[in-house]
This record gives sequence, structure tokens and C-alpha cells, in this order.
Amino acid sequence: MTEQTAPRDWRPLAAEFKPRNRLFIDGGWRDALSGEQFDCLSPIDGRLLTQVAAGDAADIEAAVRAARSSFERGDWSRAAPRHRKQVLLRFAELVREHRDELALTETLDMGKPISDSLSVDVPSSANCLQWYGEAVDKVYDEVAPTGSDSLALITREPQGVVGAIVPWNFPMIMATWKIGPVLAAGNSLILKPSEKSPLSALRLAELAIEAGIPPGVFNVVPGFGHTAGKALALHPDVDGIAFTGSTATGKLIMGYAAQSNLKRVSLECGGKSPNIVMADYQDIERAARACAFAIFFNQGEMCSAGSRLIVHESVKDALLEQVSRVARELQPGDPLDPATRLGAIVDGPQMQSVLGYIEAGQQDGARLALGGARVRQQSGGYYVEPTIFDAVRPEMRIAREEIFGPVLSTLTYRTEEEALRIANDSSYGLAAAVWTQDLKAAHRVSRALRAGVVYVNCYDADDITVPFGGYKQSGMGRDKSLHAFDKYTELKTTWIDLS
Ligand code: NAD
Repeated sequence: MTEQTAPRDWRPLAAEFKPRNRLFIDGGWRDALSGEQFDCLSPIDGRLLTQVAAGDAADIEAAVRAARSSFERGDWSRAAPRHRKQVLLRFAELVREHRDELALTETLDMGKPISDSLSVDVPSSANCLQWYGEAVDKVYDEVAPTGSDSLALITREPQGVVGAIVPWNFPMIMATWKIGPVLAAGNSLILKPSEKSPLSALRLAELAIEAGIPPGVFNVVPGFGHTAGKALALHPDVDGIAFTGSTATGKLIMGYAAQSNLKRVSLECGGKSPNIVMADYQDIERAARACAFAIFFNQGEMCSAGSRLIVHESVKDALLEQVSRVARELQPGDPLDPATRLGAIVDGPQMQSVLGYIEAGQQDGARLALGGARVRQQSGGYYVEPTIFDAVRPEMRIAREEIFGPVLSTLTYRTEEEALRIANDSSYGLAAAVWTQDLKAAHRVSRALRAGVVYVNCYDADDITVPFGGYKQSGMGRDKSLHAFDKYTELKTTWIDLS
């Protein structure tokens, strides 16, 4: 389906929206054993979308049992890679076939513009599933170069039962970055979506079954972090946890693994990414546009957001003027309107946290150059203007802490050394960028930046073929690309004596 065929008026579809709202375990729908539910509100207008079953430790227990028994059964874990490929390709196709429904789900549940859900979230999720499906029968194992009196095989085996705990900013994309490689490698999965955006994961599980994933291989348990998420990460029969979320929660997850069974943990955590614009970069308009989208896309709710603009003092005024011009065009609007570019913040507490940072920036002496206010309050939803701070100093909170909202902090520098010092002065190391015409400077700076992804003369360029993840407290392990298989497989050496 092409974008032109998407509905023009999403309001009637939104009014009829009836999402799945129960736990998906062992191929079927269930209520939480406790009978508990939680409210799923839309940040667009604050309305109740549905009440979702609130899974807790007892439901995690049931899901782990189903996952373990499916893994032992072997109809997925020991299936030929070619079979897994065909099923994953069908799964990807089903995601595409349900594009409008999934896009609407994502927009209503977490507030992003419908145009982004349609053009980014659904196609990227489908591509990810397709890519891992295509990859799985093309990855070979190894034979070690031992002597002729032995044969040593180095093979990759599925880890077993994997728990995935994901955030709300790109609910489907973050989930499929786990689902694709976890399932392709032959594992059984329990997905715990964020309590702020549980809906698309539930629909994905249903589509997976329709595609041919056997029951028990892909389970979804919505619920809160401190109940369902914690129980999953502490469970002694879970072999690995793939986590995406905040650094604070990532640290807890490592602790749970240590307290229980030393399960494998991979963490994709937060960021405070530096975006360095050097004095020689000529196309200021192009850089400004990218700098604006680097922080305002997805309402700034992006782990890789270019939230620290580090610009040479000689071009700062010219650049900031252009960034502000682009930002003014990105005023928040109704996420269901296809013309809207900036949507709602995921919920009230997150909006209050963003507004709190805006206040802190002003109190610390930064200059508010644009925005700074809540808007569209009459809608009942949660919207914050694109906000730009100038004259930010490295020690200010808005230069150090992840805001996870549409707030840009601008810092200036005089020498390359100073730019790098400011850029690397962070507990995070997820992404970074440098803008320059000078090839040598581009190499020098990108090598010196302590980040898992460095963009040169672009920002947020993306493809499933490249790994994504962070240095320092931005996490460990990488999502995407063939490297993701490292997280969900065990390496086995089988030594055969031929003497
Ligand atoms: P969060 O840490 O609050 O929650 C993430 C997930 O962890 C949710 O499913 C939540 O329910 C669960 N959780 C919370 N407490 C838990 C606990 N005690 N035990 C187990 N699970 C628990 O993060 P969030 O607010 O949902 O997401 C925003 C964060 O995610 C930001 O820091 C952002 O940078 C990060 N993020 C990182 C990446 C990446 O690829 N590096 C991508 C997207 C988002």
C-alpha cells in the first residue's frame, strides 16, 4: 500500500479504535491472573483508549513456562533456518498489510504524528523482520584451524528463553529490533512492552501467530516495570534479557541478573548526544535543518537525539537563526492530522519532566531562545513547543541530563580540542555528529568521539545493516545488523578427536 492510499481523515477510525488489551501467552489471549488492569490513555487528548491486563510475576511465570516448553519442543528452536526465514518474511508482510491499523495504534497510544507512524514506524518494523528473516539462512558457522587429527566446530546455538523489555518512544521499532534477531536465531521470546505504550506489541504477537510462529514462541506480557519487568529480569529460567530504556533501569536489570541466574544482559540505554558544527561547514541551511530534526523529530523522545548542539562561536548566530526558523515550522499539532510534524508528549508526567528541565535551564542562566511552553492544553493532551536554549554551559543540568523532549541546548567552542572535551564530557556515549568540509578533521573528530554511532555531515542516518548502541552508560551490546545475533546466541565449541 502506498502513502497516497492512507485515509485522509483518521478521526472516525480513531473513534472506532478497539485495540487488543489482554496478555498474549502460549498463542492465546488471557486476563492477568490477578484480574488487574491498567488504564491506557491517549496523550493526544487524554481519553481512555482501553484498560489493559496488568501482568505481574504470576503471569511472567506462566509466560516463561510456555516459552520454555516451546523451546524444548523444538518446532521453532530446531526448525531449519529456511523455515524460520519463510515465517519471518510472512510476518513482515502481515505488518505491511496492517500498516494503517498499526500506524493508528502507535499514534493513539504514544502521540507521534500519524505521518511518522506511516512512513517510519511501520515500514521500519516490517523491514527489520524481513531483514532478519532473509539473513538467517545465510549465516555460516565455523571450523577452527586445528591440526588434522581433530575437527573443532564453532557453532552458534539459540540462547533459549529471552525476555525483551522495551520503552515507549518507538514501541514497534524497539520491539522488532529485538523480535527479529531473537526469533530468527531460534529463541522463544517474552516481550514486556512499556506500560505507556502496550498496544502495538499485542497486535504484533497476534500477527506472528498468523504468520506461522508456533504457540509459546512469542509471548507478550504488558504490565509495569517494577512488577512484570522486574519478575522477568529476575526469573531463574530466563536465559537472556534484551533491554531498551533508561540507564537507571538498565542498572537495575544488571542487578536482577546478578541476583538470579547471571542471565545474559544487553542494554540499550539513554543518551545526551553531541552535535558538533565546525566553522568551515558551508551549507549552514542544510546543517540547521538536520540539527533541528535531530532534536525535534519524534517530539525529541529519541535516545539518539542530538540534544547538545556544540557550535563554533563564529557561526553560532547564523546557525541558531536557521535552526529556530525550522523549529518554528514544527509547532505541535493534532497527531491524527497528516500535516502534523510534531505530536504529543507520551504522558503528563513526562511532559512535566520536560517543562521542569526548561525551568531548570532558565534558573541556571541559559538563555531561552525559542519556545519553552506547554501548548494545545485545551485538547486535553500533552504538547510542548520546540524549545531552544542558547548560552548553555557544560555544567548545567540541561547540558548533562537526558531530557527526552523537544529541548535543544546550544554550547559554543573556540578550538577543536575544546569541542571534543565538551562533547565527551558525558556519562553517555550513544550517538554524536560532526559537520565539516575538511576530510581530515572529519576523521580526526569522529575517531575521538566516544560514541557508538558517529554521523558525519548528517544526523540519524539509519539502516538495519549497521549496528546501533552505546559506549559508557548508554549501554552494552548492539541492536540491528548481524552483530545483534551475538546477543541472542551462545557460541559452542565441539572438539572431535580424529586421531
Ligand atoms: P524506562 O527505563 O522507564 O522503561 C523502559 C522499560 O523498562 C519499560 O518497559 C518499563 O516498564 C521497564 N521497567 C521500568 N522499571 C523496571 C524495573 N525495575 N525492572 C524491569 N523493567 C523495568 O525507560 P522509558 O522511559 O520507557 O524510555 C526512555 C528511555 O529509553 C530513554 O532513556 C531513552 O534514551 C531510552 N532509549 C534507548 C534506546 C537505545 O537504543 N539506546 C532506544 C530508545 C529509548
